[in-house]
Amino acid sequence: MNLVTSNPLIQVEDDRTGLSVETLKRAIADNLFYIQGKFPGIATQQDCYMALAYTIRDRLLQRWLNTYQTYLAKENKVVCYLSAEFLVGPHLGNNLINLDLWEPVKQAVEESGLDLQALIDIEEEPGLGNGGLGRLAACYMDSLATLEIPAIGYGIRYEFGIFDQEIRDGWQVEITDKWLQYGNPWEIARPEAAVLVKLGGHTETYTDDKGHYRVRWIPGSVVKGIPYDTPILGYKVSTANNMRLWRAEAAESFDFQRFNIGDYYGAVNEKVASENLTKVLYPNDEPIQGKELRLAQQYFFVACSLQDMIRLHFFENQSLDNFHESFAIQLNDTHPAIAVAELMRLLVDEHGMDWHQAWGITQKSLGYTNHTLLPEALEKWSLELFGSLLPRHLEIIYEINQRFLDEVRLRYPQDGDKLARLSLIDNSGEQYVRMAHLACVGSHAINGVAALHSELLKETVLKDFYELWPEKFSNKTNGVTPRRWMVLSNPRRSRYISQYIGDTWIKDLDRLRDLESLVEDSQFRQGWREIKYQVKQDLAAYIQRKNNLTVDPHSLFDIQVKRIHEYKRQHLNILHVIHLYLQLKNNPQLDIPSRTFIFGGKAAPGYFMAKLIIKLINAVGEVVNRDASIGNRLKVVFLADYNVTLGQRVYPAADLSEQISTAGKEASGTGNMKFSMNGALTIGTLDGANVEIREEVGAENFFLFGLTTPEVNQLKHNGYHPWDYYNGNANLKAVIDLINSGFFAHGDTGLFRPLTDSLLSQDPYLVLADFQAYVDCQAQVSQAYQDPEQWSRMSILNVARMGKFSSDRSIRDYCREIWNIQPVQIELQDLCPDGTCLLIPPEKRNYH
Ligand SMILES: *Cc1c(COP(=O)(O)O)cnc(C)c1O
Repeated sequence: MNLVTSNPLIQVEDDRTGLSVETLKRAIADNLFYIQGKFPGIATQQDCYMALAYTIRDRLLQRWLNTYQTYLAKENKVVCYLSAEFLVGPHLGNNLINLDLWEPVKQAVEESGLDLQALIDIEEEPGLGNGGLGRLAACYMDSLATLEIPAIGYGIRYEFGIFDQEIRDGWQVEITDKWLQYGNPWEIARPEAAVLVKLGGHTETYTDDKGHYRVRWIPGSVVKGIPYDTPILGYKVSTANNMRLWRAEAAESFDFQRFNIGDYYGAVNEKVASENLTKVLYPNDEPIQGKELRLAQQYFFVACSLQDMIRLHFFENQSLDNFHESFAIQLNDTHPAIAVAELMRLLVDEHGMDWHQAWGITQKSLGYTNHTLLPEALEKWSLELFGSLLPRHLEIIYEINQRFLDEVRLRYPQDGDKLARLSLIDNSGEQYVRMAHLACVGSHAINGVAALHSELLKETVLKDFYELWPEKFSNKTNGVTPRRWMVLSNPRRSRYISQYIGDTWIKDLDRLRDLESLVEDSQFRQGWREIKYQVKQDLAAYIQRKNNLTVDPHSLFDIQVKRIHEYKRQHLNILHVIHLYLQLKNNPQLDIPSRTFIFGGKAAPGYFMAKLIIKLINAVGEVVNRDASIGNRLKVVFLADYNVTLGQRVYPAADLSEQISTAGKEASGTGNMKFSMNGALTIGTLDGANVEIREEVGAENFFLFGLTTPEVNQLKHNGYHPWDYYNGNANLKAVIDLINSGFFAHGDTGLFRPLTDSLLSQDPYLVLADFQAYVDCQAQVSQAYQDPEQWSRMSILNVARMGKFSSDRSIRDYCREIWNIQPVQIELQDLCPDGTCLLIPPEKRNYH
């Protein structure tokens, strides 16, 4: 099969790299035979998916190895993105898009008697993240590769990712996520590149042969970190970067000493304990829990990753003096902030560097991205817990702190309060290590994730640090990748756009501006509406299948999907639903468009209030959906198990995007961007990136309501009394009273009391204060929806003006302003052009 390919560098089309339909068919069949060990008569759908996945992986590996070879040869700088979460979503469809192989693969699959969409749908997504933060890491990996930036994503290969959510009797039930049960065709284990990580124990001092005072860490235990590599391909480029996730294993599969004295089970137990380290993702989105295993997870993946970088560095360099010129390390929130102390330990204790030089290298290497202002989400570890797991790191942190506070003392003599506020150690009660402070002191750059958030950081949680080092602070507004969130998830819309303005927007999202000139083209608008209708039909069919509920695709699809959290205010949304329901019951003639309210999102398993909100949404749905007196004009749907796969169905189907968090609480949001890119209009507060979305699309194309951040602060400062809002607003009172009457709970008046009591007494997120403004704004939405032509104009302008929110723009900003790194182009080359490529002298073989 010696077909000449279109790429002149590749002479021969073979089974593993060829891109023609015939070759792809052959490759799929071969993989079914020789990897799955099945013939077509007994192959399951899963077998066929695996055969196709391996076919695509071969093409990825060719690009990945080319990329690797080039990086090693060029000795360029590499971005290392450290993140405890990577919520990458299913790989197959995305890789087809980025390889530009959709059509030939579709044809090859069909000619093999299979259905491509069915195979894509069978892939279980790796749920290695909670929500926005993990998804951001995944979008950034896509953009880094697309922009041809050398990068490695370092994280944790959880055996059980975020739980699967089922809804039983309206309540969330958590099911363990067995994403690895049929194997993962996208990863390659590298046991030969394993590293060792110490934990616990104590430290000792000694004098080395040069007479220097040194410290040695005698660990209580050692675990092995095994890397699992997944290629992340860029869009229509040959760059395939590495996502390297670590799995913990016992350092010795058996403790032979114990084995010999007959303690077989004790030895096995130790193995089990080590492997628990990467067993499960902690399912809390915002609040921290302070569990020892979580700190161990964080340290484990950071220690593995830094050792890996040093190994890579030594492959190319003599010394660590220029480590910071080889790597730009970004800390995705404080989860990897222990990297500050670990890099110091490696440089000083293990590699004998002096403190001052090591500190300079550490600071120059690290950047820190803050993701939250919520005080309960700022990570801190009790000194006792920290010291027992990481005794040497605690000493190093004390040393960093002492030197840091000495510096502060020179700047602010006599200001003890300032010192206490800045200290890496919280001494106000039980003592804690403050991870955000460690990250700030140890990094050369600190950024927030939206303009408002970055400003609030400087005014609130990091105020003292900002006064100390204003030059370290900057903003990097989040973005999302248009490959997954438009091209893959909304193929109809993407094709339609490309028909009119070409397809350069996929790599250069600002080009969507060209759509503006089509706003007054009524035929264009009609086509635009038809697509939204078709996508809504698809979602309606999904709802019929999953929830056994009929919804009308002509109705306004009003959607809120995201983690369930009080600050995100799903309860404000449901209060409005109840309000509309009451209005319709009182006045069936009311002239408002039919609406389908769609919710989705997981609650942290221990977050009672969030779980009660899910129950309330389902309870309201149960009543409203079957009340014939309102004639199908309102439907309430809760979609179970919200994840990336489901997001890909949901964002494109929305007319209205709910972004209604209390002002000042949502750092950025990225769901808001995905909705807008797919033509939804937003109802939202001035929070996170909503502020910039509104700026870009224009105030007239955005439904704004609610208190601003200063107004929120003012109200709280003056004393907020939610009860007054309840008493002062008949609509609000009717809604709350209806809930408390047991109307949605088969007469149980107590079921939702914890929720209504919280709203009436504390209402920490000002739901009642914003209720009337929200209802009024929703009335404007209803009115606007009655004019389809005007609605379409607004929808088109939203899409046309979303260029800023491509993660390509975010990554360019990071490259220029934090990482100081340039692209490196990868040429696709035959890996073994003359069949003798294995002829390499043994001393030139190296592993990484
Ligand atoms: C985008 C996304 C999020 C983040 O949504 P927000 O609305 O920004 O909170 C969470 N989960 C999934 C699966 C996503 O795709």
